[in-house]
Amino acid sequence: VIEFRDVEKRFGDNVVLKDLNFTVARGERVTLIGPSGSGKTTILRLVMTLEELTGGYIYVDGEPLSHEDRDGKRVPVSKSQQKRLRTRIGMVFQQFNLFPNMTVLENIIEAPVHVLGMSKRDATDKAHRLLEQVGLPDKANAHPTSLSGGQQQRVAIARALAMDPEILLLDEVTSALDPEVVGDVLEILREVAETTNVTMLIVTHEMGFARDVSHRVMMFDGGRVIEDGPPEKIFSHPEHERTQQFLSAVL
Ligand code: ATP
Repeated sequence: VIEFRDVEKRFGDNVVLKDLNFTVARGERVTLIGPSGSGKTTILRLVMTLEELTGGYIYVDGEPLSHEDRDGKRVPVSKSQQKRLRTRIGMVFQQFNLFPNMTVLENIIEAPVHVLGMSKRDATDKAHRLLEQVGLPDKANAHPTSLSGGQQQRVAIARALAMDPEILLLDEVTSALDPEVVGDVLEILREVAETTNVTMLIVTHEMGFARDVSHRVMMFDGGRVIEDGPPEKIFSHPEHERTQQFLSAVL
């Protein structure tokens, strides 16, 4: 469902990702681990078309996110393609990114109503079900600013799920939370993983969570994948010395 081919991303002279080649299958849950600055977040942002590629190709369901024209100039995705892609991909960010001027309910129904054209009534019913699922049944009319970080993140998860995404991108979703609420948020995501077939690309420092939910873990260093395999193998018998060092520092 997602294919990276010879992907390169640079910011000015800073080459952040290079020679990236991997495929994520439908329903697969892949966790990206590695030191700060190794390019993990950039990968998610590329898939979401929040960043543009500088080399190679990324295909989502066979559609390239950008391509080179006959003169070798890079052509980014069109606005309409971008819009279409974003209806199929949900992203949850470290900093929640809820719309502060809208209620919780309005945050959740915004995209289903305005992008998918769902009726307000159906979207509202669905939002209530999702709020139940994330343990916030009584917060529909609250404003995000009145909620704790953990509650805001649960709303952000409900908002992403409201679009029934094929692909869910989770970018360090617990890094900004108080330690005592991290477990609740991860529990909700575990349940999503167990009860849906959504493809997940996950960036996290929560290795227990990564081990539980992932089919596959990829270790990044210096913009490259240095190790790729099932979590049991990566966490118990990492081959690469850099992976061993990284894991002994974070576990
Ligand atoms: P972290 O765990 O700290 O989030 P990461 O592995 O997710 O790290 P990225 O956030 O992808 O790493 O960043 C990789 C590199 O790209 C860093 O050196 C960062 O400074 C650089 N970078 C990211 N976004 C930009 C940007 N918009 N402009 C310039 N440089 C950027």
